[in-house]
Amino acid sequence: MKTRQMTVHDVCQSLETWAPLSWQESYDNAGLLCGNRSQVITGILISLDCTEAVVQEAIEQGCNMIVAHHPIVFKGLKSLTGKDYVERTMILAIKNDIAIYASHTNLDHAPKGVSYQLATQLGLINGKVLRPFKQALKQLTYFIPTESAAKTLEALHAAGAGNIGNYSECSFSQLGTGRFTPNEAANPTIGTSNKAEEVQEEQVQLIFPAHLEKVVLEALFKSHPYEEVAYYINQLDNTWNEVGSGYVAELPEALNAEQFSKYLKEKLELHHFRHTAWLKKPIKRVAVCGGAGSFLLGDAIKAGADVFISGDFKYHEFFDAENYLTICDIGHYESEVMIKEAIHAYLSNNFSTFAVLKSMTNSNPVSYA
Ligand SMILES: [Zn+2]
Repeated sequence: MKTRQMTVHDVCQSLETWAPLSWQESYDNAGLLCGNRSQVITGILISLDCTEAVVQEAIEQGCNMIVAHHPIVFKGLKSLTGKDYVERTMILAIKNDIAIYASHTNLDHAPKGVSYQLATQLGLINGKVLRPFKQALKQLTYFIPTESAAKTLEALHAAGAGNIGNYSECSFSQLGTGRFTPNEAANPTIGTSNKAEEVQEEQVQLIFPAHLEKVVLEALFKSHPYEEVAYYINQLDNTWNEVGSGYVAELPEALNAEQFSKYLKEKLELHHFRHTAWLKKPIKRVAVCGGAGSFLLGDAIKAGADVFISGDFKYHEFFDAENYLTICDIGHYESEVMIKEAIHAYLSNNFSTFAVLKSMTNSNPVSYA
């Protein structure tokens, strides 16, 4: 059997199953930044940043797609003349038919995303998302003759509806009476034109991720026997506990400041890190956020964390730790670089017709003297 050749589009779709683009922050620019969606993939290079050196590495390795965490293009480009590193990177990629894809804040928010990977690298246990998403779930309610309910539920579950935490195929139904009068233009499954009809129906409700609305409705319309499907959709205010920013978890055993400092350096191969004063109590509960995480400090404090590990804290932001917890600023690059490993594992698992490589380029623009 001949395996189908995989395209840039297939890889985008696969990555967006893990981290849908609608989960990115409003300021972000995640997604396919350059390249032809129908191009057949020869190999993928994974990096944290996409720089000229990374594009050069892709050329040398025979990879025609780069999957990076940080989008090389953030603001709109009005010209492409090579006047700065962003434009030179794009020109080099386009000239060599290399597609560039960025999975950024959408991957920060995704289950098993950046902060989860940081927590995993640290060996933390019993974790959960620090600031779960709100308004990312919707509820579908529809009405259907009882004998057809199972068929629609099967289709809706296959489309991704009805999952709550560790539970799948969740739904709720109640019996009732449906009433309708078809007009002369109607082609009713049950009943006849201009005659009032009463049918025993079920009202079925289930939750689905908001970004799947289109496929969920398609599944409903395809599997429902009626010409005119009666349904409605509600936006839910519920938190979605698996999706959101940061992660809070526990060390396997409590450590004192000196032990923790050594542990952190060993686990993440750090030479040093910046921190606020150590509190005079054992460290057990640890909040993390890959990248610039100061916006989550309040959530880390509320979650009862003893330390908050992230990057890019500014001088004045360190004061906000007060005596609640200890901020450990390990560096932006250092707090996110492990995502390369996770993207590599994900793509290697999903594709077997081309090589998936981790970039060997150290793209960290910060050096320590
Ligand atoms: Zn970052």
